[in-house]
Amino acid sequence: MTRIAFIGLGNMGGGMAARQVVGGREVKAFDLSQAAIAKVVGTGAEGAASVAEAVKDADVVITMLPAGPHVRKVYTDDILPKAPKTALLIDCSTIDVDSARAVAAQATSAGFRFADAPVSGGTAAADAGTLAFMVGCDETAFADVDEALKPMARVVIRAGDHGAGQAAKICNNMLLGISMIGTCEAFALAEKLGLAPDRFFEIASKSSGQCWSLSTYAPWPGVGPQTASDRNYEGGFAANMMLKDLKLAQEAAARAGATTPLGNSAEALYALFDRLGYGGKDFSGVLQMLRGDLARLSG
Ligand code: NAD
Repeated sequence: MTRIAFIGLGNMGGGMAARQVVGGREVKAFDLSQAAIAKVVGTGAEGAASVAEAVKDADVVITMLPAGPHVRKVYTDDILPKAPKTALLIDCSTIDVDSARAVAAQATSAGFRFADAPVSGGTAAADAGTLAFMVGCDETAFADVDEALKPMARVVIRAGDHGAGQAAKICNNMLLGISMIGTCEAFALAEKLGLAPDRFFEIASKSSGQCWSLSTYAPWPGVGPQTASDRNYEGGFAANMMLKDLKLAQEAAARAGATTPLGNSAEALYALFDRLGYGGKDFSGVLQMLRGDLARLSG
């Protein structure tokens, strides 16, 4: 039976580790939070007392941590010194491209195979095992990475070499942040022009303005499929998570010399929404800021 060490059992990692158990793998799980470990132990995983204990006999090590500094530290202090060299190392956290490449270089020079494999899909997809993984790894390692991720995945796509998974993730989410703001601005203008939101939705979703943020995830409550907007923007994809990804995109753009003015504006708008106290709301709630009706978010 494949032995998986799972490090980072938060909102995403907890559900993902449980899917590995359902997939018939032997899971040894560690988190700094005892409560998070206990929850995953309740699904059939074994709890570990440290990262070192979790990884010591692992075939595959999966990390799902908050950000780049956490990943760099856990790899440097614990995983690389303590995991068997045969272990396949996969980081599923969303982190900056430079950290992903630095950890990959450290891991490969220590003799490990490594993949960055961030995900698209939120906690519901993590719990259901229907995440989309974008993978940066050597071509020769991909079949094993794919096999390791299968119990947690709807789709696993190789983006390219080390760092390419993170690059794909931040480019996708920058596009999503921009398209959501564009969709919200269009709804807000339609309202001011006296156009009914459901009419605008029906017309634009069949016209050239059609995009995922409009037709699948409409920010206006009561139009289109059920979304977070129908639950007063609770659940879904938190605006402060979108802000984190937009910051990563801007940092990457600055370093790479890419021109991303709309990504920059999107970051500024989400930063304002967050500062106003709505970072925990779904990212489509930015509609209410643009309409000047933030009060309804507190209701
Ligand atoms: P989270 O904060 O809920 O979980 C992170 C977990 O890591 C926490 O339980 C924390 O205790 C643990 N942790 C931190 N340092 C540790 C260490 N040194 N050793 C062991 N455990 C440690 O975050 P999350 O929502 O699960 O997100 C995890 C990653 O997935 C982030 O990079 C995030 O950007 C990305 N992501 C999140 C979503 C989402 O909808 N929540 C969607 C896609 C991607």
